[in-house]
Amino acid sequence: MRRAVCPGSFDPITNGHLDIIGRVSKLYDVVHVAVLVNPNKQGMFSVEERIALIEEVTAQFGNLVVESHHGLLVDYCRERGIPAIIRGLRAVSDFDFELQMAQMNNGLTGVETLFVPTSPTYSFLSSTLAKEVASYGGDVSHLLPEAVHRRLVERIAERKAEQ
Ligand code: ADP
Repeated sequence: MRRAVCPGSFDPITNGHLDIIGRVSKLYDVVHVAVLVNPNKQGMFSVEERIALIEEVTAQFGNLVVESHHGLLVDYCRERGIPAIIRGLRAVSDFDFELQMAQMNNGLTGVETLFVPTSPTYSFLSSTLAKEVASYGGDVSHLLPEAVHRRLVERIAERKAEQ
């Protein structure tokens, strides 16, 4: 079985993520989507909610394993026999940090990192920007899967009602 992992925060999953995951799912037998947990970062969605959303909007691919991971990505890869980490590259600005991480991870365990260029339609898109624009009432429905957009709008309304 040829395996790869697409790691990230996925708070929440966007069409940019979906594009990369869909393309990679055609190249490997099994693609793991790992929601990496950062205990210092309070997300818009809980890890369980992020996983449920990813599962809902990727059901068509058929060869994904979606799970969370606390700790180092290289340990996740080692425990599951995954030789390749896939990262999406949006712009040159992503490159510095991604190169550092790839070199560090390779030095730690020998795991390889492969970069997939984003579709130009999504090169400006991040979960953070989608959340920010949506929180000010901007329309981001074309940037998120429909179920994700619906949940995001609901969550923003819930948060506003609490304030
Ligand atoms: P992280 O917090 O690790 O950057 P993200 O959830 O933001 O996690 O991103 C996970 C992966 O998806 C990264 O490889 C990132 O470069 C990629 N990615 C994020 N947004 C896009 C996009 N719009 N197009 C393509 N790839 C993207």
